[in-house]
Amino acid sequence: MTRYIFITGGVVSSLGKGIASASLASILQARGANVTMIKLDPYINVDPGTMSPFQHGEVYVTEDGAETDLDLGHYERFVRMRTGRVNNYTTGRIYENVIRKERRGDYLGGTVQVIPHITDEIKRCIREGAEGHDIALVEIGGTVGDIESLPFLEAIRQMGVEHRRDSLFIHLTLVPFIGPSQEMKTKPTQHSVKELRSIGIQPDILLCRSSRPIPDEERRKIALFTNVEHEAVISALDVDDIYKVPLALHDQGLDDIVTEKLRLELPPADLSDWEWVVDSRDRLDGEVTIAMVGKYVNRADAYKSLTEALIHAGIHTHTRLHVRSIDSEELERLGTQQLRDADAILVPGGFGERGVEGKILAARYARENAIPYLGICLGMQVAVIDYARHVAGLEQAHSTEFQADTPHPVIGLITEWMTGEGGIEVRGPGDDLGGTMRLGGQPCRLQEGSLAKRMYAEPEIIERHRHRYEFNNHYAESLQRAGLRISGWSGDGNLVEVVELPAHPWYLGCQFHPEFTSTPRDGHPLFCGFVEAARARRGTTYCAAGGSQYGEH
Ligand code: GLN
Repeated sequence: MTRYIFITGGVVSSLGKGIASASLASILQARGANVTMIKLDPYINVDPGTMSPFQHGEVYVTEDGAETDLDLGHYERFVRMRTGRVNNYTTGRIYENVIRKERRGDYLGGTVQVIPHITDEIKRCIREGAEGHDIALVEIGGTVGDIESLPFLEAIRQMGVEHRRDSLFIHLTLVPFIGPSQEMKTKPTQHSVKELRSIGIQPDILLCRSSRPIPDEERRKIALFTNVEHEAVISALDVDDIYKVPLALHDQGLDDIVTEKLRLELPPADLSDWEWVVDSRDRLDGEVTIAMVGKYVNRADAYKSLTEALIHAGIHTHTRLHVRSIDSEELERLGTQQLRDADAILVPGGFGERGVEGKILAARYARENAIPYLGICLGMQVAVIDYARHVAGLEQAHSTEFQADTPHPVIGLITEWMTGEGGIEVRGPGDDLGGTMRLGGQPCRLQEGSLAKRMYAEPEIIERHRHRYEFNNHYAESLQRAGLRISGWSGDGNLVEVVELPAHPWYLGCQFHPEFTSTPRDGHPLFCGFVEAARARRGTTYCAAGGSQYGEH
């Protein structure tokens, strides 16, 4: 039998509901519970796949190929779990399901309504995601009071009644500190809970975000006005490192309150691995500057998993990282001087033509100056374009994504370059932007003796994809002859997954996105190797300036 923990948010958005939920799940997992997490998003998009990372932050890709909300990335980073399609539902997807059933005649002539049809579908989805787990933490996106979230709140209210003894409600609010009067204000929390209670949900636990500890007197006041027990009013203090949150919530006794309310007998939590993670700052013995050449540099969440993966690599290599975001368009305009003091260069994934020449330039600069380079997805594609243009002599080489009539389509749609005997992969309807990508975890075989094989120390890996374009196999032979090493192939041997430069200290492009599988506790071999290479490079530039085999350009 599954226990449900429903987490809602109030007062304002961006209070870190996803991180708080994931942290609680992590503690419960450390106490031996088999936990899962589900995110319900009130927006109408069927999934965030078509949303700009500019507006909504990164699209997180799961192993089973779902394009999901970035909170699922937090879930996988905090909890040892693999999320998938059943862990994220949007209003769009719920309605799509209901409308499909309606068209099929499943409702037998009935009038289809928000209650009960939409709410029933929400409950069905929650149960589907929760199946087989001791505890399901269900996070509702948005804040209480939004029109869009009402059907979700109604559905969880009903589940609270149906699973009265096996469910609880946590509400995350803000207790602001007003500078001039030097006071903490509980009124917004009172109002938020009032709003929640007006739709029939009485929270069991309040997590009150605040910039300083909430005095006991104020906690009592909140408890009194909200009908929540005093000890269940928890002060969730701001922390300077998100990975401190599991420890902070455990210190406040949150997991004991939860297990007691859910009548769960669980051994105490061993959080020593989280302590190890947050203590990493005391172990630092080096620092590097990494230039990240991308497009959405103003929106921190656009590359969320990637920036976290670099932080994880810093933790595991004891390195203080300075990540410098560089706008690829600016690089294109102003040249490479911005890359001068970079110990390593990273070009992440991306879509669209804007800034692509700047990324090609970054790949070239790293190649010619023996600077460690990691190119992810589009970052691999630009590395191939640079190599084709400037080493293999295919001057006008390009990707057909950016120049449809290039004479040398070294990167192209698989349908453009597959010959008869190769067959053509079918990737969805073709006219639907949401359905034409290579998505999700796929096996990749690594070549013996390659850098990739050395990093992963395994002959076959599984990493996640999210792209339409591929390395064009018609150029595999000529580019290899020119010195490019293809060190990773898809499981069926048909698609190029990894390229590298054997004569370069550390230069690797991968068609997949390794950032989605990096976690703070385990790190990721590719990112750790990349940061180690950056450290080695920094060492050589300091000890023997310009002493690389490629010389300085
Ligand atoms: N735009 C490229 C493609 O679709 C790369 C995508 C990416 O980097 N995620 O293939």
